[in-house]
Amino acid sequence: MKAREASDHFRDGLGYEKAADYGRALGSFRAALSGGYDNEHIHMAMGRVYRETGEYGASVSEFKKAGDAHRDKNDVFFSNEVLNETEISEKKLTLESRPRGLGAVLTTRCNLRCIMCSSWKKQWDIPGRAVSDIHGILPYLKRVMWLGGEVFLSKHFEGLFDAAARNLRLHQTVVTDGLLIDRKWAEKLARANMNLTYSIDGIDRNTYENIRRGADYDDLKRSARLINEEKEKSRNSMPEGRRMTTSINYVVMKSNYKEITDAVEFAKEYGFDDLTLTPVDYIDGEENIFLTGDRAAADHIREAVVRISARAGEYGLTFHNWLPAMGGAGHGGESGKTAAKKTAAADIFCYWPWQHLFIDIGGQVKPHCLCSRKVGNIEEDSLSGIWNSEAMINYRKSILEKKMAGLCNNICLSSPITRDCMGLSI
Ligand code: SF4
Repeated sequence: MKAREASDHFRDGLGYEKAADYGRALGSFRAALSGGYDNEHIHMAMGRVYRETGEYGASVSEFKKAGDAHRDKNDVFFSNEVLNETEISEKKLTLESRPRGLGAVLTTRCNLRCIMCSSWKKQWDIPGRAVSDIHGILPYLKRVMWLGGEVFLSKHFEGLFDAAARNLRLHQTVVTDGLLIDRKWAEKLARANMNLTYSIDGIDRNTYENIRRGADYDDLKRSARLINEEKEKSRNSMPEGRRMTTSINYVVMKSNYKEITDAVEFAKEYGFDDLTLTPVDYIDGEENIFLTGDRAAADHIREAVVRISARAGEYGLTFHNWLPAMGGAGHGGESGKTAAKKTAAADIFCYWPWQHLFIDIGGQVKPHCLCSRKVGNIEEDSLSGIWNSEAMINYRKSILEKKMAGLCNNICLSSPITRDCMGLSI
């Protein structure tokens, strides 16, 4: 078999894995292996698929084969990935492997005063010791997400971003309002393995400026054009798979739900790669249509999500709908380029507590931003201490015992988040 054919089988297998079609995935991986293509990655993929189907012994054995096949025994990133996947399949509660993903709020400083956000009211900056801890785990990380406030106002952001960019296998996500991005930053961002997520909660100028108080709609458009220009310029110099992508995160509330269909047009016009709808959180009152049970909003969203889904597919955009059900509304599912199903029967419902840490405002740490309980605080503990803290172990244990009540967010338990969003594996 030619290397090209083997590579096609491997790629097909990853597609089947993403779609949770595990029988076909295994068939494709086996076909790729028989062509002798890139063994360790195929064994890793087979290990993950065996675990999803409950064959834990076979899963561990595939991870071992992956470790044996990897030539560079000093590659700490890959060794940690193998160890971490093995420990998950062995259902270990205390881990020797290090985290493979991190989300970190770096500051609450912000140039805006958004109506649904209160973080700017309490000034907080990530402590220097925690920044050193983060530098220490960067070589092991596959994904990192930087958040604020506004990250461009954190004195630690540029140093962390540059250090992370030196690990070529680490994908960064930067969440921003985009308004402080100048040409120098745009050039740097567009040449990194990263996703830039803009928070845009209104497509009409008035809606946008009323929600994102202090923002100027023209500055937003200037920033989106600048980034798009640099993204296009860097396209040929960046290898496929490491090119910058851009996203819109749209927080849906009463003031803006009627504009969600326009968001997909805005995304297309400004060259964004994907659009995510998330429910407003942290506030009650009439803006929180997910609490008030607003019937008109529910009807509108149900129909709009279907239209957005179709439009996104047409434009080649990825669309994530993370809105909870509103009396049956809101569930359009995912569309565009991703369409995997969450396998509710999966033995390990969520992998994040084995793979990821999230540092929130005030230094509170959770496995993931969606998790309801803290597992430590970086003002008091080191990241490595928190990684195996009693509370973190309890998360892992509770997931294995399927006792998620009180620990897990409804978005995970009842919204259409897909299986491949429940961990870093793919
Ligand atoms: S809330 Fe539960 S299901 Fe969601 S990321 Fe956290 S541990 Fe996983």
